[in-house]
Amino acid sequence: MILDGGETTKVESTLSLARDILRDTFGYDNFRSQQADIINHVSQGHDALVLMPTGGGKSLCYQIPAMIRDGTAVVVSPLIALMQDQVAALELAGVQAAYLNSTLTPKQQADVIHELQQGRLDLLYVAPERLLQADTLALLSQSTVALFAIDEAHCVSAWGHDFRQDYLGLGILAEQFPQVPRIALTATADARTQADICQRLNLNQPQTFIDSFDRPNICYSVQIKTDAKRQLMGFLAQHTGRSGIVYCLSRKSVEATAQFLNNNGYRALPYHAGMDAQDRAFNQARYLNEEGLIMVATIAFGMGIDKPDVRFVAHLDLPKSIEAYYQETGRAGRDGEAADAWMVYGLQDVVRLSRMIEESQAGDDHKRIERTKLDALLGWCEVTTCRRIHLLAHFDEHRQGDCGNCDICLNPPLTWDGTEAAQKALSCVYRTGQRFGAGHVIDVLRGADNDKVRRFDHQHLSTFGIGAEFNDQRWRSVFRQLVVRGFLRVDHANFGALTLTPAARQILKGETQLWLREEPTQSSAKRKRAAAALDLELALEDEDLFEALKARRTAIASEAGVPPYVIFHDRTLLEMIHLRPKQLEAMLQVNGVGEAKLQKYGQQFLDVLNEFV
Ligand code: ADP
Ligand code: ZN
Repeated sequence: MILDGGETTKVESTLSLARDILRDTFGYDNFRSQQADIINHVSQGHDALVLMPTGGGKSLCYQIPAMIRDGTAVVVSPLIALMQDQVAALELAGVQAAYLNSTLTPKQQADVIHELQQGRLDLLYVAPERLLQADTLALLSQSTVALFAIDEAHCVSAWGHDFRQDYLGLGILAEQFPQVPRIALTATADARTQADICQRLNLNQPQTFIDSFDRPNICYSVQIKTDAKRQLMGFLAQHTGRSGIVYCLSRKSVEATAQFLNNNGYRALPYHAGMDAQDRAFNQARYLNEEGLIMVATIAFGMGIDKPDVRFVAHLDLPKSIEAYYQETGRAGRDGEAADAWMVYGLQDVVRLSRMIEESQAGDDHKRIERTKLDALLGWCEVTTCRRIHLLAHFDEHRQGDCGNCDICLNPPLTWDGTEAAQKALSCVYRTGQRFGAGHVIDVLRGADNDKVRRFDHQHLSTFGIGAEFNDQRWRSVFRQLVVRGFLRVDHANFGALTLTPAARQILKGETQLWLREEPTQSSAKRKRAAAALDLELALEDEDLFEALKARRTAIASEAGVPPYVIFHDRTLLEMIHLRPKQLEAMLQVNGVGEAKLQKYGQQFLDVLNEFV
């Protein structure tokens, strides 16, 4: 298909072909970040390793070369649900795609194989174990394979967090199909994992394409947990009718939170590993197919969820690490529209998580790593400058300038000189014998008259009542920050007693000044959005039209047996409202409308638009 001329003409013609496919098939005007380079590189027959954040647009990097190159592209993907979604979306866009996996009947499998042998498929999705079966390999060696795309490529590395034995076998493709280019893609891989991927997959002089890991449309915010349910309600009030995920640590709190939301006018579904598989699958399917549902879940939920219009991810409990947090929040806003990552946490969470680490069966080395990861996350929770800068720095990406789209940028926190308060707190921990948790130490500081104080005779301590100037909540804030910043340690062997660390001495001796963060008294209800963040806001008079378009979309989707976003994204519907096309042809101007979808659905949406003139 590619003209035989000098290198430049070849590149130019590949790119112009790629651009045509982008516009006609996928309905988009421009490539994002490095998509064009990657597509060109792979289309020319070279190997590549692609690192892009979730929602960055990895799929087009192999789907377009699949259509440019002769033969069928084989896509290796570990997640059956994702395969089905991708194939459904491709078919609707008019691309010849199919998958081979255990969910198909023997007859359906035979049909797919027949299509492949006839050379009628642009893309074939398979799970790794299926690909590596001798009969599949034999089948492929008799067909023309355009390229191999290995999705979730970090699964090949034991260093990654999601190692899969089957992925190791994929190195064999290099020997069996030496002429076929291979592209490995992932959203998570540090330098070590990247090297591992190239080596274990036996990539041939691969070029590595690394995209920024920034998700500019996600607004990060972290609040101190005071009354989690009330805080959650306040947050959700900004997201009525939108779909999102609320993460909780335990099954019990998943159930309770889902119940609470349903009692308060939201539509919420629970999801955790303790439910039976059928109920879980049912809730997941509903979440994908209906609009405006909230999934309340443990981290058992989310892997392989490709829903692009998740508008928020809320954490009612701390995740285990920054990596986990980044992955969980990454499920928001895959469509590039504004989304919120919101979290509340408090001293109790810190105590609970560190206890879980101590009490786990893991070896000491492993525990030490877990503790370091938790500390990094806690440090990040307490930062006083742009959260995004710190988050990216954790992944070795160094960003210049504040983002304008995180809680700190939007509402810079105040700090106060907490040296004296810290001295009081630390000496009270010391005087009470380093045997108690924050609750009791605070009681002593505030001069509380209660049984426990009297039982230990703590009313006679020199630190009794020296902290009466602060209320309980302010003291909790001080203690939390002292733990997070390494002046106090939680001793789990001793029922969560607070103990002093060597660093505490500097403060007690007055050698360092300590600035603490003032807790914001207000929720972020009145915060403003950064100009950079895209917005789904609609003129009030267009709300009804938007709802009508969504209703049409839902009707079409349920008839086709696919989730609504597979038909069109919200952004595409909004563009229809802005552009108000009058004829079918003009509909092609709308981002996300390609030739095939125009033919299939254009008129139906045009009809709705025409009802509203
Ligand atoms: P991921 O990198 O997570 O696999 P996807 O390939 O699913 O991301 O892409 C995320 C979303 O972005 C998809 O809905 C896709 O249609 C959209 N997208 C990808 N590339 C472009 C582009 N060049 N222009 C507009 N939208 C795009
Ligand atoms: Zn910021």
